Amino acid sequence: MTGKKEKASEKREKRLQEISLLRTIPYSDHQRWWSEETIAVVTGANRGIGFEIAKQLAGHGLTVILTSRDTSVGIEAAKVLQEGGFNVDVHQLDILHEESISEFTKWIKEKYDGVDILVNNAGVNYNLVSGNSMEYAKQMIETNYFGTKNMIKAMIPLMRPSAAGARIVNVSSRLGKLNGRRSRIEDEALREKLSNLEILSEELIDNMVSTFLQQVEADTWQSGGWPQKFTDYAVSKLAVNLYSMLMAKQLSERPEGEKIYINCYCPGWVRTAMTSWSGNVSAEHAADTGVWLALLPNEAVTGKLFAERRELKV
Ligand code: NDP
Repeated sequence: MTGKKEKASEKREKRLQEISLLRTIPYSDHQRWWSEETIAVVTGANRGIGFEIAKQLAGHGLTVILTSRDTSVGIEAAKVLQEGGFNVDVHQLDILHEESISEFTKWIKEKYDGVDILVNNAGVNYNLVSGNSMEYAKQMIETNYFGTKNMIKAMIPLMRPSAAGARIVNVSSRLGKLNGRRSRIEDEALREKLSNLEILSEELIDNMVSTFLQQVEADTWQSGGWPQKFTDYAVSKLAVNLYSMLMAKQLSERPEGEKIYINCYCPGWVRTAMTSWSGNVSAEHAADTGVWLALLPNEAVTGKLFAERRELKV
């Protein structure tokens, strides 16, 4: 290992230990704004980080709706948590399908009369370690960005007013940083526009991803100045990060008592199917920052990107 890599690895280990310690400190009664009546929806919760987030939220005493695009797999995953004594319900949800989202929305409205927390965890990445094929770029952008956006749009009208505010947490990635050191859009003018909250718009973000997909289609993306590593994945998560910032601004205009806080986090390089279990952190650890963000006591944090409970600059 080179000196630099060694240092980074030591730093990460130290932070992992700090977080393990933080997780042993229970929330005090006055911090616990939630109860078993609090409804948390987790997408793609049948395995990996999503399953862990569902487990940890249920462990804190909330009612968790574990969603899965495959009904029987979801039922099996929920059973594991139900048998552990957790309050967990289960429903089919494929974030790529409009009918599935609207069926889920109808079900949750009728059964629970709303939602307090939404964790957008469902996502895909088809390139591993050194690959950078664009074969699945469209599916990736559609799942990671449009699927997440569609869930946010479907759930916002169901989010219940409360003094603590409703919460949306998007499991994103630091690869989707606008000003990332190693991986970022080269076009400075575009970067500047996207980083200016005064002019950032849904149209601007959608245009960025559709320009990218047009270039993929025409096989000209290589010279398009896109992030060099995990390109399609990075663009999809950049879009999620930017959309969250935009929504945070819009949602902050809601009156007190009806606030919705929305944040993103990067779980690190995680040992799940997505990385063929080659990551350097466990799913249990990877779930931590998402759960922490979902439960933040009395703190109006919104429109930010976090990793290991610390804010990163988008
Ligand atoms: P997994 O591949 O283990 O899990 C992904 C989950 O998303 C599965 O439950 C999968 O369902 C679900 N999913 C995929 N597409 C859809 C869809 N259209 N509708 C509903 N659910 C869907 O990956 P991870 O647990 O590692 O990843 C979870 C999140 O964390 C993703 O958003 C990922 O981008 C993000 N992340 C992961 C990192 C890592 O190192 N692993 C790093 C940074 C971010 P099914 O079982 O049916 O396929």
